[in-house]
Amino acid sequence: MIPLIKPFIPPKEKLLPRLEQVLYSGYIAEGEATYEFENRLSQLIGNLYCLTVNSGTAALHIALTLIGVGPGDEVISTALTAEPTNTTIALTGAKVVFADVDIGTGLISPDSIEANISVRTKAIMVVHYAGMVCDMNRINAISEKHNLPVIEDAAHAFMSKYRGQFVGNNSPYTCFSFQAIKHITTVDGGLLCLKNEEEYLRAKKLRWFGLDKKVPRLLADITEAGFKYHMNNVNAAIGLVQLECIEENVHRYIENGKFFDENLKNVTGVTLLPYYEDTEPSYWLYTMKVDRRNNFIKMMTENGVSASPLHLRNDRHSVFKAPLGTTPNLDVFYDSFVHIPCGWWLTEADKVKIFELMKHGW
Ligand SMILES: *Cc1c(COP(=O)(O)O)cnc(C)c1O
Repeated sequence: MIPLIKPFIPPKEKLLPRLEQVLYSGYIAEGEATYEFENRLSQLIGNLYCLTVNSGTAALHIALTLIGVGPGDEVISTALTAEPTNTTIALTGAKVVFADVDIGTGLISPDSIEANISVRTKAIMVVHYAGMVCDMNRINAISEKHNLPVIEDAAHAFMSKYRGQFVGNNSPYTCFSFQAIKHITTVDGGLLCLKNEEEYLRAKKLRWFGLDKKVPRLLADITEAGFKYHMNNVNAAIGLVQLECIEENVHRYIENGKFFDENLKNVTGVTLLPYYEDTEPSYWLYTMKVDRRNNFIKMMTENGVSASPLHLRNDRHSVFKAPLGTTPNLDVFYDSFVHIPCGWWLTEADKVKIFELMKHGW
């Protein structure tokens, strides 16, 4: 079976020496390897203010904390995402307000964001779902007009681009995940990209109890209680080796995605998703709409190709209890979209097989 998702682990000869060196170095906590990984990520993304953390969830939670989101506030978000996008908002005590999606893409709708803004709105959370970048031109304009900060949940969008730059350079907060199945995995880990030094320094303390690592422990003073969200040297060592392979790997996701864009556009029963202006996806999964979805999924799985949606729409969870009927586009999109594999593990033969199967019909 060709899986929808698969962890990439670098070859033993590359990974194990580096891991062994860190494990027996006497320093496995946050240290040199972590800072080196952080610096490399900064260089790659092109943003000075990058902070590693121990999960994408942690990055989201710190971003919400920096904004000061709390009880009585509302955060506008999307239901078509993995749960941590919204559980982190709920954890702050704020209410999640689900905006609708654009019918063509399944990504959060700028019109619906604007329609949901109230006096209690404190932030806008957008998700570059499956590696496709949201309509950032319009979302930036709404953010500016209403003076509301945007958090980009870019867990699926490592090395996706907006205006020719990697995602991680646009909004005040961008959150990446290095969990098992993402473009790049450190087993678990995450990254928070910020836009100024002040917030960077505050976030750096927030990831480690509120302590400043540069101040000797016996002299330190905590002025704001923080979390235990830092990355350690062991995960960072894995990340450093992953970075040696990342460009080639992401290139393969993109090549595969472009192959499907090109070849599936004339297949009967398929509606491809358009990409917004100034955006370039990194195709974590290949997403499209198909007629008779259940038949499609059955046909593909019977032929050894995983095909399915990945996440339960989050407004189905009791904890988020959203009123019915407020997301008409999502209601339609949710019943018609599907993902097929698009990652580094696809061979040329796999791609052709997927295309041929689909061309044959279901
Ligand atoms: C994976 C994921 C996260 C959380 O990342 P973790 O590293 O698992 O905490 C957040 N948002 C989305 C959309 C994700 O897929």
